[in-house]
Amino acid sequence: MTQKIIGMLGGMSWASSAEYYRLINEGVRDRLGGLHSARCLMWSFDFDDIAVLQRSDRWDAAAALMIEAAQRLERGGADFLIICTNTMHKAYGQLQAAVDLPLLHIADPTAERIRAAGLRRVGLLGTAFTMEQDFYKGRLADEHGLDVLVPDAEDRATVHRIIYDELVKGRIEAASRAACRGVIERLVAAGAEAVILGCTELVLLVTPADSPVPLFDTTGLHAAAAVELALG
Ligand code: GLU
Repeated sequence: MTQKIIGMLGGMSWASSAEYYRLINEGVRDRLGGLHSARCLMWSFDFDDIAVLQRSDRWDAAAALMIEAAQRLERGGADFLIICTNTMHKAYGQLQAAVDLPLLHIADPTAERIRAAGLRRVGLLGTAFTMEQDFYKGRLADEHGLDVLVPDAEDRATVHRIIYDELVKGRIEAASRAACRGVIERLVAAGAEAVILGCTELVLLVTPADSPVPLFDTTGLHAAAAVELALG
């Protein structure tokens, strides 16, 4: 069988892109067996180039970098694209308008799995951008009918700090896992029936054992959806 070529917009951060790469290859191996592995291309940013623009609220400049990278992948022969971060889905619409390739949105397979499990009220963990702005929560609510809860301001700041000070640098700290456990407990107390790990590094820190409700890991669900699309 001919696999479609997965174009990965990665390096946001490398820590989660490594996870994507592993999961996508394992997914193809499990489906096709033998020595099969994924046909894919990855553009991996220097994450500092992106993070500087995020911090200074220069989202259009960040989107321009994403478009340039997507065009490289398109020229390289990718059949479709995935953005290997939740936060940079803020540029999803601009990217979609600029390239001819299909773009598999990270929130869609995640929300579909939550609905299939019969759940609707979900807590969302991610960067402050993802938790506070509408580009991500809005899609979950408007296109998938989910009722999204986010942590309070102090907990949002804690999760954001853990992501940018530790996880994107490949640092996994037990104290931060305990902090996330507390954040999840408070979301559950507020009514969350499930929690979305809406940052692609969070799965490196938080496991199902850290949560009294089901966790929906965007990295794993997005990677699985990409394998599905690649294999048809
Ligand atoms: N990988 C993270 C996410 O899924 C954060 C890094 C970024 O800002 O892209 O949102």
